[in-house]
Amino acid sequence: MINIHEIYQSIQGESTLAGMPCTFVRLAGCPLRCSYCDTPQAIAFDSGNSMAIDDVVAQAKSWSNPLLLVTGGEPLAQKSCIELLQKLLNTGGIVQLETSGALDVRLVPSAVRKVLDIKTPGSGEEKRNRWENLQYLNAEDEIKFVLKDQADYMWAKGVIEKRLQNTPATILLSPCWGALSAEDLCAWILRDKLPVRMQLQMHKVIWGAEKTGV
Ligand code: SF4
Repeated sequence: MINIHEIYQSIQGESTLAGMPCTFVRLAGCPLRCSYCDTPQAIAFDSGNSMAIDDVVAQAKSWSNPLLLVTGGEPLAQKSCIELLQKLLNTGGIVQLETSGALDVRLVPSAVRKVLDIKTPGSGEEKRNRWENLQYLNAEDEIKFVLKDQADYMWAKGVIEKRLQNTPATILLSPCWGALSAEDLCAWILRDKLPVRMQLQMHKVIWGAEKTGV
C-alpha cells in the first residue's frame, strides 16, 4: 500500500525531459518545510489516500504517456516508494523521481532517472542536504537548485565548484517563481560560465502558478 495525493496527466514542466507528456504520481507527505514550497497541499502525511501499488501502476499506465513521474511531497519518505518505482519501470516507460535530496537514494532502482534537489539557504532547509547522495548519481540523473536571490546563486556556484566538478549528472538552476528574475539568472550564468542548464517551470508559464493538478 502507498499513500497517494493525486494521479493525473500533464506535460512535464521541469528537468531535461520538460515538454514530455507525463503521468504524475504525487505521493503524500514531506518532512521538509521549504519556504518556497509550491505543493503545500501534499506536505501532510494524511493528505492522501492509501492505495494498492498495483492499482496505482494500473492507473498510471492507463494514459499511455511515455514518461511516468513520481513526485511529492517527498516520495522517499514512504518506504513502499521503492516498490512503486520498480513496478512502474516494469511497464516499460521512462520513470523519473523528484526528491528533496534529504533522504537516502541508494535503494532507488538504477534505471529510474533521479532529479535531486540541493536545498539552498533561501529554502530554509539547507541543513537537510544529504551530501552522500551525490555519489549515487549517474549521467541520466539531474541535480536541481531552486534559487530565491543572488545570495542563493552565489551559494550554489560555490557548491558547484567545490562538490560537483566531477558529477556525471546534469545541473539545473531554476529561479524561484515570483522571487528571482529569470533574466538576472541567465546573466549570472553567462557571466560566470557555469556548467549548468537554466530551467523555468513550464507548467507555470502555461497555466499560471496557482493551478494545481496540471
Ligand atoms: S521538499 Fe518539496 S514538497 Fe517538501 S517542503 Fe520542500 S518543496 Fe515542498
